[in-house]
Amino acid sequence: MASNKLYDVVILGTGPAGLQAAIHAARKKVSVLLMGRPGKSSLFWAHVENFYAIANASGREMLRIGREQAMKFGTEILEEDVLQLSAAEPLFNITTESNLELQTKALIIATGTARKTLGVTGEKEFLGRGVSYCVECDANFFEGADVAVVGGASAAVGGALTLLDYAKTVHLICEKLEVTDALKRQVEESATVIHAGRKVKEIVGRDSAEAIVLGDGTKIPVTGVFIELGSKGVMELATRIGIQLDDEMKYIQTTKKMETNIPGIYAAGDICGPPWQIAKAVGEGCVAGLGAAAYVKKLGKVG
Ligand SMILES: Cc1cc2nc3c(=O)[nH]c(=O)nc-3n(C[C@H](O)[C@H](O)[C@H](O)COP(=O)(O)OP(=O)(O)OC[C@H]3O[C@@H](n4cnc5c(N)ncnc54)[C@H](O)[C@@H]3O)c2cc1C
Repeated sequence: MASNKLYDVVILGTGPAGLQAAIHAARKKVSVLLMGRPGKSSLFWAHVENFYAIANASGREMLRIGREQAMKFGTEILEEDVLQLSAAEPLFNITTESNLELQTKALIIATGTARKTLGVTGEKEFLGRGVSYCVECDANFFEGADVAVVGGASAAVGGALTLLDYAKTVHLICEKLEVTDALKRQVEESATVIHAGRKVKEIVGRDSAEAIVLGDGTKIPVTGVFIELGSKGVMELATRIGIQLDDEMKYIQTTKKMETNIPGIYAAGDICGPPWQIAKAVGEGCVAGLGAAAYVKKLGKVG
């Protein structure tokens, strides 16, 4: 690929949001470059059974099919991360990790979000075998089980309340409950077993998670451990170019058309906030892809 090549639309992120954006933009006959690594998509390790008309599929396979669809409609793919973005009105400059310099008329940011980890022994080992970062995605795999939720903010407390509909026992482990009075009352009055002022030291088991061990050595037998500590935004790229974030400075703020505050830049998927679900990512990707293609056509010939 030549440096300084100009595209109509460049999409950052080859997860479901980026792929769906590519499919919709490329079908509008604009040139599309999709950047990123499928192996770094949150979907890569998922087993999906809650996406419309897909009752049982591997995330990896969904990414492979999505990539083929995008390529079939003319999308070019570059498996590299973007290191730098800058504006050169009306274009945007992109520097990739191998130092390629590219230009685009419109940009779609679909770089997902990385979940905050606990950093304890057993967390990585049992990921997908008891450890999960998504109650919404995995609660129903723990029907009748004893589970723990780690975290004290609304995602964790809401997650614990959701899990009560599935699990036999739900333990909530947190240093402090940091939620509204109403939510605090709701969880305290529920069947959730709250361990406030406690920390998880490790997750133990053989083939899958079997228990959590707290800082004081207490061992709680659970087969599911939901780590709900929020997300680490991949925001540096966006904020450096002046993209506005939401009130809590966590996610990219967009209009219903997935436009950011910078004309020509769109965003879609997990980077725009929860719920972190494929259905939301592809819906937003579709809107962003169509919007970017229309923007480019309106912009006309430049560069
Ligand atoms: C274990 C697990 C199970 C899940 N199960 C389900 C489920 O059953 N159902 C469901 O609906 N959802 C599920 N999810 C959530 C779902 O995977 C996400 O909501 C979805 O993948 C978000 O899509 P996205 O395109 O926004 O981001 P992602 O899929 O995370 O993709 C982000 C992309 O951005 C790229 N990227 C990052 N930084 C850069 C950069 N600097 N330059 C270029 N590219 C970059 C990455 O390489 C990646 O390709 C699950 C998630 C996990 C972790």
